Amino acid sequence: MKFASAVLATAALTLSACSQPDSATSDTIQSEQRVVNVFSARHYRSDEHVYAAFTAATGIDVNLIGANGDQLIERVRADGERSPADVIITVDAARLHRAEEAGLFARTDFSQLAANVDDHLIDPDGYWVGFTMRARVIAYSADRVAEGDITTYEQLADPRWAGRVCIRESGNAYNQSLMATMVAKSGEEAAEAWAAGIVANMARPPQGGDRDQLRGIAAGICDVAVVNHYYYAMLANSGQEADQDAAAASVLLFPNQDDSGAHVNISGVGIAANAPHSAEARELVAFLLSADAQRLFAEMTHEVPVIDGVEWDNAVLEAMLPFREDQRNVSELGDHNATAQRIFDRVGWQ
Ligand code: FE
Repeated sequence: MKFASAVLATAALTLSACSQPDSATSDTIQSEQRVVNVFSARHYRSDEHVYAAFTAATGIDVNLIGANGDQLIERVRADGERSPADVIITVDAARLHRAEEAGLFARTDFSQLAANVDDHLIDPDGYWVGFTMRARVIAYSADRVAEGDITTYEQLADPRWAGRVCIRESGNAYNQSLMATMVAKSGEEAAEAWAAGIVANMARPPQGGDRDQLRGIAAGICDVAVVNHYYYAMLANSGQEADQDAAAASVLLFPNQDDSGAHVNISGVGIAANAPHSAEARELVAFLLSADAQRLFAEMTHEVPVIDGVEWDNAVLEAMLPFREDQRNVSELGDHNATAQRIFDRVGWQ
């Protein structure tokens, strides 16, 4: 037995050293130790805790391969039937849609894996499911903007905000999905007029991540910004004083609470079409949708649980809830992604 575990240890080392398990290595490990290969575009500390809890609960090791969403999709596609990917995780519904169109997912009955995920967070074709929800919301300056001055996404295009809006680049998936929602909601023409209005209102050329938009408000560069809700919470809960000050300079506003609701996106997961360990993949997906994992996402990444009845402790997130969310199925974000990108190009949104 000593010899067997030494072989296993060597195999595991090889696996993590090249982080590209070939099928021979995977088979060796499978015979000794159950494993699931996770291709993930998420970069959050909560996930390490979730995977550790999963391994502790099931005995299944998680082999994590990280990259951005487009790289993950391209890699699984290029590897074809030889792909070691068991599950694919992205931070945006449009990327899941893209992976689905590339034929990378196996159809799965997610209702068997989790009882009560809201329908609009599940792909109607059964290829992927959202396991955390995030709202893309408006932040406004606590000093320079009064409560009620802005309450909807549509108002971001109003000339009153000329030179006062911070928002990141159009290549960003979160912005593409927000634009896709505007297309779904109002049609391409109205969405384009809206986008042109925002470009005209930008305080500076798009740059940085969502946290940098909040820092822009704190620095007096802009008065309103568009950010995912959890970036505000990350700054507010950061140990750094500068981050806490940046959060304190803004008020977070969940838009369109009187009509369509705040635009929500998901981190989602699908089981790979050629998964070498599909049983383990199903167990991992079920675990991501369990109360244990949902609690960790809510507490560590400030994401909104997708199942009911999860208990968690996070004052900053709790202060944001509840809010009215757009009930449109998130698969529509993928349906309108190409249109969204065309709009960005036409209005010159960098
Ligand atoms: Fe993010």
